[in-house]
Amino acid sequence: MALNARLDHRDPLVFDTHELGRRPGALQRLTRTVDAPRDLGIAGVIGVPEGAPVELELRLESVMEGVLVTGTARATAEGECVRCLEPVEQQLEADFQEMFSYPDADDRGRPKAEPADDAEEDEDRLFLEDGLFDLEPVLRDAVVLALPMQPVCQEDCPGLCAECGVRLADDPDHHHDAVDIRWAALQGLAGSLGDGEKDEMSGAAETGVDEKQEK
Ligand SMILES: [Zn+2]
Ligand SMILES: [Zn+2]
Repeated sequence: MALNARLDHRDPLVFDTHELGRRPGALQRLTRTVDAPRDLGIAGVIGVPEGAPVELELRLESVMEGVLVTGTARATAEGECVRCLEPVEQQLEADFQEMFSYPDADDRGRPKAEPADDAEEDEDRLFLEDGLFDLEPVLRDAVVLALPMQPVCQEDCPGLCAECGVRLADDPDHHHDAVDIRWAALQGLAGSLGDGEKDEMSGAAETGVDEKQEK
């Protein structure tokens, strides 16, 4: 959104504080269910699909400087498991708190700061415009923070078979013949060293072990 764009009160993520008034201490609670805006989440990883319902619970509090907005957003996020690529659904609950300052709050009794400091501070500050505020940037930040960077379908998802790409969680006994041969060879070796199924093999193995220990 361009910086000079006017807020539109018909935008579902724009809220009106006129009812709240400017008397410090005044409180207003409200709930609203909105359609998720585009790209709400972590791009390419997990997010709330565009148009999916997002339940908002807000508490507006009038303070000297502006309106303090505290709230929670609830929605269902969708993505895919980073290990096995299966679809992942996650109930999202994102808390946020943000101060929306009156545009004229700056000029009242504040000593002029250094121009550099001013510019830096203004970038992060959000302002009321004609008594309206836009929750969208706040919602976006809160949702990103509440989502996992690396979503998994289950905590111990074993991922995909490195050889054929099959999903291992669907097939715990999955294996390949090539692996079998190597494993069988190891088992044979272990057997000949270990339980001495043949006497002469057992003797040879023991001798080998003794020689190694003497070195
Ligand atoms: Zn998985
Ligand atoms: Zn495989």
